[in-house]
Amino acid sequence: MDLMLKGKTVLVTAASRGLGYATARVLAQEGANVALCARNVTPLKEAARQLARETGATVLPVVADLTQDVDIQRLVAETLRQFQRIDALFINAGGPAPGHFLDLNLEQWDAGIQLTIQSAIRLVYAVAPLMREQGGGSILANTSVTVRYPMDGLTISNALRTAVIGLVKTLSIELGADNIRVNAIAPGWTHTERVDEILRARAEHNSTTVEEEAAKIVTEVPLRRMADPVEFARAAAFLLSPAASYITGVTLLVDGGLARAVL
Ligand code: NAD
Repeated sequence: MDLMLKGKTVLVTAASRGLGYATARVLAQEGANVALCARNVTPLKEAARQLARETGATVLPVVADLTQDVDIQRLVAETLRQFQRIDALFINAGGPAPGHFLDLNLEQWDAGIQLTIQSAIRLVYAVAPLMREQGGGSILANTSVTVRYPMDGLTISNALRTAVIGLVKTLSIELGADNIRVNAIAPGWTHTERVDEILRARAEHNSTTVEEEAAKIVTEVPLRRMADPVEFARAAAFLLSPAASYITGVTLLVDGGLARAVL
């Protein structure tokens, strides 16, 4: 199937590694121009170089911290300067601090709010008016399986990511008449660098091995394995692309069946 992404411009946030990078890679392989952001210049530039080398796509790296409005304004301005339009936006960021409610403090909640929900709000304010002028666009917000299946010890994520889903659903209704589609994607356990870090920390804490910790996780997953990032990225690229032209307001789980929910 042709995703009809050739020559389109997609802005992918938090993309120096992990799910953002994997999604940018599939988009670039499909012929899209890609603008990427992350906070640290060296890994970001290396990611952009690698993508351009591998796919031949035009890739623009922009250093930006998604918790800072001024950075988001600059990110969108530089993307427009380079590509003149933004056809699709993938909203992604690092995860908020883990922890149980009584072990967390208000500063951690504030940081989580900035990173998880305010960054999404800021990005949509920066991009949606432009998409409306262009005659349409596609917005996809990354969330987590926690929106359907709250996870122990991920209190901030459990609480705030459902706010992103509420925003996505509302925007899909408000912006549909402008031909702007708005969807969410909800990954389960996906084998990124961040998950490697979690496995190493659990192994050290429990005096086990990384393999033993990974095995504990996948017993809960009906497909009995973690996803490879490209499996997430293909679903994300589809929802971002014109091939998904009649899909808006949905939350797509990419979780190997982990969420034990009927709907
Ligand atoms: P990751 O840590 O591997 O990558 C995160 C990326 O975000 C990096 O490029 C980092 O530089 C960037 N980043 C972090 N904070 C930023 C900020 N303030 N401004 C700009 N860039 C920033 O993580 P990942 O595994 O790719 O996960 C991405 C998102 O998906 C996270 O929110 C994570 O919680 C969520 N998620 C991941 C999984 C999984 O299994 N990997 C499952 C569910 C949800």
